[in-house]
Amino acid sequence: MKTVYLDNNATTRVAPEVVEAMLPYFSEFYGNPSSMHSFGGNLGIKVREARARIAALLGAQPEEILLTSGGTESDVTAIHAALAAHPHKRHIVTTRVEHPAIKNLFEQYGKNGYRVTFVPVDCEGRIDLDEFRASLSEDTAVVSMMWANNETGVLFPVDEVAAELKARGIVYHTDAVQAVGKIPIDLTRTDVDLLSLSGHKLHGPKGIGALYIRKGTKFKPLMVGGHQEQGRRAGTENVPGIIGLGKACELAAGYLDDIDTRVRALRDRLENALLEAVPQAMVNGDRANRLPNTTSIAFEYVEGEAILLMMNEHGIAASSGSACTSGSLEPSHVLRAMGIPFTAAHGSIRFSLSHYTTAEEIDFVIEKMPPIIERLRQMSPFWKQAAQSV
Ligand code: PLP
Repeated sequence: MKTVYLDNNATTRVAPEVVEAMLPYFSEFYGNPSSMHSFGGNLGIKVREARARIAALLGAQPEEILLTSGGTESDVTAIHAALAAHPHKRHIVTTRVEHPAIKNLFEQYGKNGYRVTFVPVDCEGRIDLDEFRASLSEDTAVVSMMWANNETGVLFPVDEVAAELKARGIVYHTDAVQAVGKIPIDLTRTDVDLLSLSGHKLHGPKGIGALYIRKGTKFKPLMVGGHQEQGRRAGTENVPGIIGLGKACELAAGYLDDIDTRVRALRDRLENALLEAVPQAMVNGDRANRLPNTTSIAFEYVEGEAILLMMNEHGIAASSGSACTSGSLEPSHVLRAMGIPFTAAHGSIRFSLSHYTTAEEIDFVIEKMPPIIERLRQMSPFWKQAAQSV
């Protein structure tokens, strides 16, 4: 059975060009870039080229790119560095809808003596800028606010937040793991200090990512040991991964337009068709200001996990809430923070498309979804109750 893969916010297919670019670095050029001999040492040039490609996608300078093992490490490194640079400040700010990589980290800092503000969101997943501003103080060391939400795709006011924080001298970190490779990012225009990205979200390999560190931002390494990455992250470089991430970033620059037009149109077609065919279905999040590849749809009075299982029988892969929380039956913290009613949050499915998604695949999903929801509703006591009370 063919898989229709609509779970690209969880992870993406590695682009064939990326695989091809990486392969020689496992079998032929397997040296260590730190070696004195040219077999290893020459790889430094390849790592430099890859770093330049990553920087180019962001409008950054190559020396502002720190290579890491992925989004989580970039997030942890960023916050660690910001706090180490401002040891006397004891207040940190984030939002209620961050990925667990930030959410759990901030909760941990809260247990270790920091005052933590989790800025709330409205029912469409948006923060109130005035409320955000009011949360800041002289004691605020760092703000971490994501660029795009992984569950709803909702975009945050990164430019406004960056300008505000710059004026106040507060470090701004943004988790842009879901944004990079889906929308244009130009850090010559947006004044963030630190930005996280992850290879496997943009058709690169897993286990590689980067942290952008704006020139002049104070930095203390999280990983100490060897002198790799100019002393900013110890550990032998993941050369094939770095080459792969470089290639993925180069490719992404070429398909951003396709995501903004063709993929956006496919997402809208899927969303509109399901809203029309399925009663009591609604979109979670701000429809006007979202990633072009993502839609989170709440099918009221059915279980998200049951929907996923039936979709799986047709080879359709999607997600209920975030992949990281789908092991549990609790509605995700993101949907709860938005105040989505329990009966809707529980039946929410995230469809996330990619540059590889085709119109035929979307038509297939449009055909299969309504009978799945109908069948499950026929078995749902909540649906029957709701129908009787109308
Ligand atoms: N931040 C966001 C917004 C994410 O969506 C993810 C992954 O789902 C991460 C961070 C973690 O990235 P990684 O899997 O590369 O550690």
